[in-house]
Amino acid sequence: MIRLFLDFDGTIAVNDVGDEFFRTFGDFERLHAELLRGEYSVAEYYRRSAASVRDMSDTAVATFLAAQELDSGARDLITWSVREQIPTVVVSDGFDRYIEPLLEREGLRTHVDLACNTLQETEIGLLPVFPGATESCSCFCASCKRNTLLVRSAMDDVLIYVGDGRSDACAVEYCDVVFAKGILAASCTERGIPHHPYRTLTDVMMILQAKLRDGSLRARRQARLARQRAVAAE
Ligand SMILES: [Mg+2]
Ligand SMILES: [Zn+2]
Repeated sequence: MIRLFLDFDGTIAVNDVGDEFFRTFGDFERLHAELLRGEYSVAEYYRRSAASVRDMSDTAVATFLAAQELDSGARDLITWSVREQIPTVVVSDGFDRYIEPLLEREGLRTHVDLACNTLQETEIGLLPVFPGATESCSCFCASCKRNTLLVRSAMDDVLIYVGDGRSDACAVEYCDVVFAKGILAASCTERGIPHHPYRTLTDVMMILQAKLRDGSLRARRQARLARQRAVAAE
């Protein structure tokens, strides 16, 4: 079975909505600089970011969300995957608080399975929860995407991955067909991971349609071996 995994921030959404979210409602500049200097983990960065959030009224969030755009090809790609019966998972190290409403706004929420972090409103303030946290991977994520892929696929499936950033770097090692832009494309090149560069999700859809027609959506030996090793180690 062919399966499609899509990153959200900077991939389905044009911008990194998570960064914009904390820039709007929290103390983004200072905390993000500290994260990039390696002062703490992504999980700790999210805990501090959530704790810095103030004045997050429903109206303010609605105004914020209204300004966020999705990739011009997002709807076409996802509705195409539904027509082709290719199960699609949005796999994000961002938060349900903005991903769910943005997918819903575009009528896409029911078409995809969603694996992401959650932001819970508690008596002591916002608390991030990371369902994909694992001790067995030390990638640049709070929720590692690797296990999301492994749990949702069989060993002989063909895994397609589309992403743009640091949080995708670990996941693509386990995927057969990779679409990458931005930092992820550079990181794939550096590590010798074959990938298709792309600009929009329309490019991705057109390449996938051609590959489906000519039968070249196939497993990648190194990716399958990596999946086998990861499953054995878990
Ligand atoms: Mg991203
Ligand atoms: Zn990882």
